[in-house]
Amino acid sequence: MLHVGINGFGTIGKRVADAVRVQPDMTVAGVAKRSPNFEATIADDRGYDLYAADGREPFDEADLATAGTVHDLIETSDVVVDTTPSGVGAANASLYAEHDTPAIFQGGEDPDVADVSFNARANYEKAVGADTARVVSCNTTGLSRLLAPLRESYGVEKSRVTLVRRGADPGQTGRGPINDTLPDPVEIPSHHGPDVQTIFPDLDIDTMGMKVPTTQMHTHSVNVTLESEPTTEEVTSLLADESRLFLIPETLGIDGAGKLKEYTRDAGRPRGDVWENCIWAESITVEGRDLYLFQAIHQEADVVPENIDAVRALSERTASAEKSIRRTDEALGVGRGLVEHDGSPQRVDSHADD
Ligand code: NAD
Repeated sequence: MLHVGINGFGTIGKRVADAVRVQPDMTVAGVAKRSPNFEATIADDRGYDLYAADGREPFDEADLATAGTVHDLIETSDVVVDTTPSGVGAANASLYAEHDTPAIFQGGEDPDVADVSFNARANYEKAVGADTARVVSCNTTGLSRLLAPLRESYGVEKSRVTLVRRGADPGQTGRGPINDTLPDPVEIPSHHGPDVQTIFPDLDIDTMGMKVPTTQMHTHSVNVTLESEPTTEEVTSLLADESRLFLIPETLGIDGAGKLKEYTRDAGRPRGDVWENCIWAESITVEGRDLYLFQAIHQEADVVPENIDAVRALSERTASAEKSIRRTDEALGVGRGLVEHDGSPQRVDSHADD
């Protein structure tokens, strides 16, 4: 059983902890937090041991028990997943090295924070036995999952992607825009293209970024010039075979991220999370060697299964990407639950006398 510590229990950290909890080969060693806010009470409720990142006093005052400091958590963990805000992970790197504990960082850090930038479908093997890995950002994860099978089956000559990005996560009340559509960043290419090249160094890719007033999901408008000329049906079938790509059937009537999130909530997904890239099936179009499609990426969720695979890769317990991905997906329900509903409320028999 792998003991996994989570340092930083916010948007990504709490999802990673819950995903660790359902894996057959992992357990949550504990979570480190700075403040006893609502997420600390959720950690307590889940039974995760709380460790203080910045001193135990605020937790004592809030009557929340702590099991120790972040140093104790790192020492007791086989692997630590650092899910602190961008930049804090890099500052924490020396802590993990000090304790000789393998560590996983997130996409908000610069690539040089870790030995390898990681995407399970594209380069799992590179992280096997490494001391550190960086799970690339939500957008880079979404693009890597899509480009990996296309490269393997047809070759990719050039990729052009416009990323229409959510302005904020639902909990980020201070971010925007709230009434605008921003080229962001204005410079071209946006940072996303070079980030995808940390996974595929030889890939020719140009990216343009925008920010819009939604908290739901990112949407990618994708054009890939392939090296061969498959049919639309062949590409559709290739993508449909990937467990972390969900092809939205036209019949569902899902016209955007709003209905997509409503669908996953109806289907009983925790927090309405969408771990898969969601590709509108009827958008998949091949003209000559040019492939076009639209995909939606749930920024809070798609990196979660990747973090689980990264834990297995660093710990060297599972040498093959295929095996780890299958294990993670089965335990979480990735690739299921969007079309196989299992979240309907269950009848609870009452034992009341009346
Ligand atoms: P977040 O702000 O929601 O959560 C970070 C948590 O870490 C907060 O609870 C914060 O209080 C805590 N924290 C701050 N400093 C700390 C410290 N020194 N020690 C321990 N905990 C500390 O951030 P997030 O959205 O979960 O992002 C975490 C990382 O994941 C970032 O690198 C981000 O770029 C990346 N990421 C975020 C998203 C997203 O859409 N939210 C998607 C993919 C990757």
